[in-house]
Amino acid sequence: MPKYETSSKVYKCSFCGKLDRQVNRLIQGPGVYICDGCVRLCNEILENEVKEETTTNTNLPKPKKIYTILDQYIIGQDDAKKTLSVAVYNHYKRIGQKRKAEDDVELQKSNILMIGPTGSGKTLFAQILAKILNVPLAIVDANALTEAGYVGENVEDILLALINSANGDVGKAERGIVYIDEIDKIARKAGTTRDISGEGVQQALLKILEGTSVNVPIPSSVHQQMQEMISIDTKNVLFICGGAFNGLEKVIEERTKGSKLGFGANIASKNDKDVGKILKEVMPDDLLKFGLIPEFVGRLPIIATLDALDENTLVRILTEPKNALIKQYKKLMDMDDTRLEFEEDALQAIANEAIQRNTGARGLRSILERVMRDSMFNTPSIEGNTVVTVTRNDVVHNKSPILRSDVKKMLSKN
Ligand code: ADP
Repeated sequence: MPKYETSSKVYKCSFCGKLDRQVNRLIQGPGVYICDGCVRLCNEILENEVKEETTTNTNLPKPKKIYTILDQYIIGQDDAKKTLSVAVYNHYKRIGQKRKAEDDVELQKSNILMIGPTGSGKTLFAQILAKILNVPLAIVDANALTEAGYVGENVEDILLALINSANGDVGKAERGIVYIDEIDKIARKAGTTRDISGEGVQQALLKILEGTSVNVPIPSSVHQQMQEMISIDTKNVLFICGGAFNGLEKVIEERTKGSKLGFGANIASKNDKDVGKILKEVMPDDLLKFGLIPEFVGRLPIIATLDALDENTLVRILTEPKNALIKQYKKLMDMDDTRLEFEEDALQAIANEAIQRNTGARGLRSILERVMRDSMFNTPSIEGNTVVTVTRNDVVHNKSPILRSDVKKMLSKN
């Protein structure tokens, strides 16, 4: 019998099959082995499962916590951050409440209306809130909605989008968030070009906003006659409606004319800041005058207003949030050994161009793509470390930023 028989036995991870010499540690269990790599992987899986846990009253983040997380992603919009932190906290607290006693106060559902210009962060709020609360989110456009019986999307499609976002888990979908964008476009308007009245769409939305059980047809490739239905209850779904409500400031000004609140002066001369200030005074009555029907306004008791973004705020949006665009481009280029720098006035020029386009922060990405295109085309093929410095001139005159070798980085490498 050879002396070293046991030591020549091959030990390997029972999970990934790697040999003991291919891993750092191989841990032995009764008849099984696991390597350090597989232990780490298992940990990650477990961590993700913890994150997947649904929000309950015990782990529901408090409004201050929600605000702090929103603050990491959203620049400015302080009022909206506070209003929404409190609103979603109360909404999910209401859902999680224990069974009520007979005489208990009934907590009513409070959906949210967000008023603010294009690209000011309305959709972003809904996305981050859904992430914080770990609930599914459906984003729909009110423009596409029609009354039942017309061609186009109807309210069942909204709920189908929510169920899809919950990967088919109806229980999860029933605690989700629906963001309906461009809600101002379904206002009742004289001489509207819509073939279907906005009022009819508002009526169709009323029921699901309040909370009702809806049978949603599931699209199936099989026989149409065998259309499958899923029943979903919307009483705990949080609806957030958003829109720019252009012209609402005039309605508010008209109301406040002559009162202590009066904003005076001719509205035409007002800048975005003034308009933002006026919108903060919005009352349900103003929304009725704008063309929303009373029952619909009644279903949206919480109103958050967002400000138009000025140059300064847009520069902060470019650089400060956790996933800021500039940080993303820097990371991308760093992967190709390129240091990316922006001169301060280059950032201002990008922000300024976004303002000219009137698309809020939404325009920043396409401007940056244009500015960065040639650099991102060239640098991956360059040997060694490089620096790209974007100047104001590059942005304003649409030039390719100049590439240099990165002496600093080379020195730090040596
Ligand atoms: P809205 O829904 O108001 O039209 P979005 O939320 O879709 O605008 O904003 C478009 C993009 O602009 C977002 O994805 C986000 O990257 C950026 N953005 C807008 N507002 C802000 C903000 N206040 N802070 C940080 N990023 C913002």
